[in-house]
Order: sequence, then C-alpha cells, then structure tokens
Amino acid sequence: MARSPECEHPQKAFGWAARDTSGHLSPFPFSRREVGADDVALKILFCGVCHSDLHTVKNDWGFTTYPVVPGHEIAGVVTQIGNNVKTFKVGDRVGVGVMADSCKTCDACEQDLENYCPKKVFTYNSPGYDGTRTYGGYSDFVVVHKRFVLRFPENLPLDAGAPLLCAGITVYSPMKYYGMTEPGGHLGVAGLGGLGHVAVKIAKAFGLKVTVISTSQKKEVEAINRLGADSFLVSTDSGKMKAAMKSMDFIIDTISGVHSLLPLLGLLKLNGKLITVGLPEKPLELPIFPLVAERKLVGGSDFGGIKETQEMLEFCGKHNISADIELIRLDEINTAMERLAKSDVKYRFVIDVANSLRG
Ligand SMILES: [Zn+2]
Ligand SMILES: [Zn+2]
Repeated sequence: MARSPECEHPQKAFGWAARDTSGHLSPFPFSRREVGADDVALKILFCGVCHSDLHTVKNDWGFTTYPVVPGHEIAGVVTQIGNNVKTFKVGDRVGVGVMADSCKTCDACEQDLENYCPKKVFTYNSPGYDGTRTYGGYSDFVVVHKRFVLRFPENLPLDAGAPLLCAGITVYSPMKYYGMTEPGGHLGVAGLGGLGHVAVKIAKAFGLKVTVISTSQKKEVEAINRLGADSFLVSTDSGKMKAAMKSMDFIIDTISGVHSLLPLLGLLKLNGKLITVGLPEKPLELPIFPLVAERKLVGGSDFGGIKETQEMLEFCGKHNISADIELIRLDEINTAMERLAKSDVKYRFVIDVANSLRG
C-alpha cells in the first residue's frame, strides 16, 4: 500500500494543498526527500500564483492528483547542499521554476531544452523518479536537483522576481526562438495578465514596438504609462481592430481562456507569427485561409530550459525588470484564486510564504 504523503520521506514538510475539484486550499503536512549528493534544499520565502495553479487545483486539465500543493514560481535561499554541489552555497538567493527534474540524457535535455524532455518532472503534481509525487512552492521548503536551481541576480527582488520563473521565461523563450528580438519589430501582446505584463516589459527592453490587445479598456492607461506599451487595442472595438489590420510582425497570445484566433491573425502582416503560450482547456479553432493567403504561422512555446531561464533572469536583472505584484498571505490564497479566475489582479499574486505559512 502507498504510504501517506506525510510519511513517504524522512523530512517533515508543511504546505497548503487542494484536496478536491473545489480547489479550496488548506494546511497540509507532508514530507520531502533527504538532500542527496546532487541536491539543493531551499527555504521558500515567496511563491507566485500562476494561472496553471488555478487550473490544476480545479483539475481543469484532467490530470490533477489530489492532494496537490501548487506553486512553481519559487524564490528563497539555499539552506543545504549535497556533496556534489559546487555552484551553490548556503545563503544564496535562488529559485525553482516549472520543472524540478528531467532525464538529462535525451535530445531535448542535451540541447538544454529540459522543458521539452518527455520525462521531465514538474515542480508539483508530477510523478518523481522515486515514484512519489512532487509538491510545489506553497510550502516551507523544497529539495531539487542542482541543475534545476536558478540564481537571482543581486538587484532582482525575490518577491517581484519570483514570477519571472514561469511568466517571465514563458514569454522570453518564444521571443528568442521566433526571432522577436530585433529592435523596431512590432509585437502584439494579447491578454494583459501575469504573462502579458511581463511580455510588455521584456519586449520593450529588446527595443520592440509593443501593442497590448485586451478586452478591457480599463487597462489602457496602465499598459502605456506604467508598463511602457506603445499602444493599446481593445479587441471588442471592431473599428480600431480593422484599422490595425496587417500592422504587426508578431503576436504573443497569453490568453488562457477559449478565444477566437481569427481577429488576431488579421492583425499580422505578411509572414507574421502568432505564438500561443496560454493553455485554454479546450482546443481553439484554427482558420486556415489567412495562414495560406499570407504565409502566416501559428506556433506554440512551453516555458524554457534552465540555461535560457538563467539567461532571462540575467537579462531582467540588467534591465531592472520584475513583475508587478500583489503580495498576499497564505490564508488569503482562496480569495486570491477567486480573483485570479476573474483576472482581478495587478498583475501577479505572490505569496509571502515564510511569513504566513502557519497563520
Ligand atoms: Zn506557471
Ligand atoms: Zn530528457
């Protein structure tokens, strides 16, 4: 018989878990493995609240195993290292993102694209190589293989920096891969939430012209004045959408709900690229005519490898980019999840884990 999460491993741990599809989170004692020779343990100080956490606690994607402790934008300090760990020391400011392990030998891993490893281990809700399940960052500490530990640049704050580990890399990686880094290119950012607002900041640092595409007129002033976007397009305003047709080189589509791609494809120039990074729970309809008629491309991208995530953190450090956050306590997480479901957050909730774990 399987052992209870509390007794699987030798180290006592404590977090907040959802037990069923209500997604309601509550205190949860469990356990973590010992620190192995190649492992790093870190005390969790802050953890971002990603839209994936919300999808997972409610089992929207159909593969949640309860109880589930979410959280994959983890920032903290190193408390213990294994004998083979030379690149980190106790006290270092570090983070853990979406992955906690991978096979390290497949083609993807050899190209530093562990995020595409078929055997990658997600930071939570994933079977680990020892057969037990992984638990995420809404908890007191985590133990991970050294390869999956990220280092925060000196000037990046850990609270506002934490969301870069998922939201940041998820928009940075497609910008690099799909060639969106040349100054002067015109990028549309569809959806101005956790991912979108970081996309605006990173794209501006690359020297792009950025237009935010959103259903909410309310966000216009902030998008331009606070985040630095060049222009703002309300997607329900058909006149303005028409006027903006064929004006963009790229669009990063961060929308996580089901939506139509056709209006977005219309905004692209000849050879334009629409890259989806949100994960709607149902398939989207793909209009073929505009793709064929103007050689447009619809692509996807799934966060990024560890090497690129470290590169992104350095880039954000250099350009002073972090997320705009609302810092919350763990006992506020259920309300925060309800607000997140309504996109009522500017722009990422981050949990002050160390100061609120036990009430
Ligand atoms: Zn995420
Ligand atoms: Zn692999």
